[in-house]
Parts: sequence; structure tokens; C-alpha cells
Amino acid sequence: MTTAFLTHSDCLQHVTPDGHPERVDRLMAIYAAVDTIDHAGLLRVEAPLGSADDILRVHPRSHLDAIEQAIPSSGSVALDADTHVSPGSLRAALRGVGAMTKAIDMVLDEEVQNAFAAVRPPGHHAETSTPMGFCLFGNIAIGAKYALDVHGLKRVALVDFDVHHGNGTQDLLWNEPRVLFASSHQMPLYPGSGYANETGASDNVLNVPLDAGADGRAFRQAYERTIFPALEDFAPELILISAGFDAHARDPLANLMLTEADFAWVTEKLCDIADTHAKGRIVSTLEGGYDLDALAASTKAHLEVLLERGAT
Ligand SMILES: [Zn+2]
Repeated sequence: MTTAFLTHSDCLQHVTPDGHPERVDRLMAIYAAVDTIDHAGLLRVEAPLGSADDILRVHPRSHLDAIEQAIPSSGSVALDADTHVSPGSLRAALRGVGAMTKAIDMVLDEEVQNAFAAVRPPGHHAETSTPMGFCLFGNIAIGAKYALDVHGLKRVALVDFDVHHGNGTQDLLWNEPRVLFASSHQMPLYPGSGYANETGASDNVLNVPLDAGADGRAFRQAYERTIFPALEDFAPELILISAGFDAHARDPLANLMLTEADFAWVTEKLCDIADTHAKGRIVSTLEGGYDLDALAASTKAHLEVLLERGAT
């Protein structure tokens, strides 16, 4: 089988103010890196617009309405100190939602083995009624609910290796016993949540904070000691990944010391767990990553593992 690479040019139409780290150039860097991958298994897929029905599984109608109403006809509007919308932001964000649900359809219908969505704005900081941290809709949480409610899966695992805590994903799925949400992140750091004692309503949340300066060895140890055993116990039928690459040593927003080899390693291990429990099914979506070279190299390393594993 193959690996789907989902994206859409609408994601280039979400324009942030000059100097903002979450910028159009991020996707351009990823596109250039993906163009250098020579693999017959890479299936390029245009992300559809996500539907209101899918968004409303985790957000109230008032949240969707508020985002729609905030979209300016020109320029850009700040929703908070970090989070901005421009005329193209709604369609861009809807592509992020649609990429998740389309990728889940393709993987669960066995059209592809796994999938990666290169979309922006990212999603894992968006809470139930609060856009924040560059994020408007909780793409990965929407995907989890879609896999559970539309495809009828019983257990979906979400793994978030973005350097920031996935507070939005945690908020949206706090009361959802059919998921396990596992997040590794630097602490203390934005957004300030993600302590190990935040465990969800039914022990369905697993937070693994890492100290500033932690390197690949500490990162791998945290996964081997805590996150992988929990995933093995949970036995997910599908693994979703919040793939943020801002834990890279070069990233300007945080202080972990990972390299692209560490992202390849964690991807490989998640593929192993997916092979054991989930028929190899993985859907990964882009979150952070703000050094363009590190982002491009890390995304390529992540995608190459998915391609390698998707081809066998
Ligand atoms: Zn991040």
C-alpha cells in the first residue's frame, strides 16, 4: 500500500502578520522537501473542506460562528496575542479539518496504509470555545471523534510530540474514554498545562513533561518508559499523531534538543505499535515547527518512515 500526503493551496492563504513564526513559508519549505522524495508510494491528495458536522462533534456552534464572524475582508485580525485570522483563514482551517477526515477515510477504507497532512493553521491548542496558540479548530480531536462516531472504532490513540502541550486536544477529549491522548512536551512552556497529574476523566490522558534542554536520549527514554507501554496496554485500532517539529534543537520557540533522527525514531516505533494493534493504520497531521530548515528535514524524515512502512 501507499502513503497519502494531503494538503491544499488554501493553506497558503492563511496569512499572519510580518514576523509571526507560524507563516506561509513553513508549508513552502515542506513542499520543497517533499518534492525531493523519490518514492513510488507517495500519493498526493487534495484536502477537502471539513464539514460543520465534523467540527461540531467537539466544538459548539458558537465557536464556529465566532471564527466565521472574525474573518476580516482584508488585512489581519488578532484573536489573541498569538492567534490571527486573515481573509483566507477559514478555508485554510477547514482544509485542516477535511485533511484529517479524508485521511482517516482513506486509511480505514484501506486505500492507503498511512497518511500525513501538511496543513496550517495547526490545531492542537484550540480549546472547546477558545482559538489560541495559532490554532482555530482542534483538527486531531475532530479526527478522533470522526473515527469513533462515523467509522465505529472503539479505541483511538493520539500521540502529540509537538514541543508544546496539546491543551486543546486534552480539553476536547477530556471526557472521551474511547481515546488515549499521550503528549510529550517541554515544561514549563506555553501554554502552561500538561502536568503529569492531568489524567483525563477516565485516565485517558497521559502527559509526559520534559525539562528544557532535554535531548533525544531523554525523549526516547520518556517514550520507552511511559508512552509506549500505555499505548500497548490501550491497544488502539488507529493511531493519530500531532506531528509538531518544534522540539528540534534549531527551533526558535523552545529548548528541547531533538534532531530529525529522533522524529524518525518515534515514527518508526509508533508504526511498530500500529502494526501490532491497528493494522499499521496511522494518520499524522502537522502542528508546530518554526525553523524552516529543521521543519523541512524533520517532516521529510517523518514522511520517509511512513512511506517505508506503508510500502511493506
Ligand atoms: Zn508547538
